Amino acid sequence: MAQPAGSIPLCPHKGCAFKCCNFKQMVHILLYPGEIDEARAQGRSLSHLEIVDGDYHGGVRVKCRAHDTSTCDNGYKPLDCVSYPFFPELASSQNGNSSNPTVTLCKGSSCPIQGHEIPQHEGYVRDRWQELIQRKPEVATRLHWFDFTSTDDFDSESYDRY
Ligand code: SF4
Ligand code: SF4
Repeated sequence: MAQPAGSIPLCPHKGCAFKCCNFKQMVHILLYPGEIDEARAQGRSLSHLEIVDGDYHGGVRVKCRAHDTSTCDNGYKPLDCVSYPFFPELASSQNGNSSNPTVTLCKGSSCPIQGHEIPQHEGYVRDRWQELIQRKPEVATRLHWFDFTSTDDFDSESYDRY
């Protein structure tokens, strides 16, 4: 059977007990502006996602309450989760705003995988975010905010540019 989008075949071999879902359940998942409405419009279940801030820098901050993390309780898997262990940044933010920003990635320190071990996932995540900022400029605005503040108030994980 085909792996769902965002699956990393290496994960079961890293001995991490799929802990990234635990981080996201304890800290948060950040949905990009409009993501929750798009998921609703697709008829996807959001019952495992508890909204803790409905306007967090233009997006929505949620906590995951899924019982079966392997399927997200058969509900919607946010792009933040699909992207892990990568997170998007905008290359143009280092030189001011650009009308044609380019997505670069950073990698979360809590995942034992090395970024170079998962080039297919890296390319997939980069392409998803690049397509998204072209379709929704407000997502680029939000990513600029995250670039300028190296982290947010809730997340203790560190991120290395990749
Ligand atoms: S992404 Fe990283 S932390 Fe999450 S299951 Fe895979 S190896 Fe583990
Ligand atoms: S939404 Fe799915 S991938 Fe994300 S933390 Fe919950 S169970 Fe894990």
